[in-house]
Amino acid sequence: MANRTTGSACNPRLSSTFQKLEAVVRIVARQPLRTIGQSYDSRKSISSCQTGIYKEWRLVVRIVVRQRACRSIKLFGGTRPMPLPQFAYHPDPVKTGSVEPSDIRCKCCGQSRGFIYTGQPYGPHDGLRRALCPWCIADGSAHQKFDAMFTPTRNIGDHGDRKPVPQSVIEEVAHRTPGFAGWQEESWVAHCGDAAEFLGPASYADVMGYGEPLAHKLKKQAGFRTESEWQEFLTSLDGKNGCMVWVFRCRKCGELDCYMDFP
Ligand SMILES: [Zn+2]
Ligand SMILES: [Zn+2]
Repeated sequence: MANRTTGSACNPRLSSTFQKLEAVVRIVARQPLRTIGQSYDSRKSISSCQTGIYKEWRLVVRIVVRQRACRSIKLFGGTRPMPLPQFAYHPDPVKTGSVEPSDIRCKCCGQSRGFIYTGQPYGPHDGLRRALCPWCIADGSAHQKFDAMFTPTRNIGDHGDRKPVPQSVIEEVAHRTPGFAGWQEESWVAHCGDAAEFLGPASYADVMGYGEPLAHKLKKQAGFRTESEWQEFLTSLDGKNGCMVWVFRCRKCGELDCYMDFP
């Protein structure tokens, strides 16, 4: 914006238009994201009557949405981006889709912190889907306040090498780690006496990318009688629909493992 304002300074009409636009941006920057599109519609006098402003306005809205989603609104006098908490057993919850950028206010801490847990925790309270921030999951406050559980304790360690997992690890995964949305009640792979890292769903391309040992494990689990059945199943995996393959990596030996989850 700064460059555009400077660049248009030689043209008084355009300069005043950009000043108006900047004023609008400042208003928009303080609004909830869901109302930004509405204010765009209500600002037709600015957007459609003046050549070029329509596109600029759309660009500005995109920038505001992106920057606010990243908690990086320095341009508008905001604060520095806040790094997501580290989850030992779920290293990249944004990549797996369990956490996403959002300005939704967390029902636990009451703040809009830029990210929200997309799932529905297990527990006695309804209405917690897309309602908890990752910070309240990480520090255990969401668990304490709502008795929320993100993966059922009984399913932690029911896939993998079946070696016993310490209670403290089970509690960390169940109470302080973002879960994921399986078709069936979610399981969590454990290996070498520890819960494994959750890497997310795998499509056919992902399985190929992870390499032969994982494909071999999956083939064994799938148990098809013929090679063509196996190939048909494997190539049908898209990581979104039908059978899901949830992939984990052992934190101790690095071995990949997975389990299948049917609708
Ligand atoms: Zn929170
Ligand atoms: Zn291991």
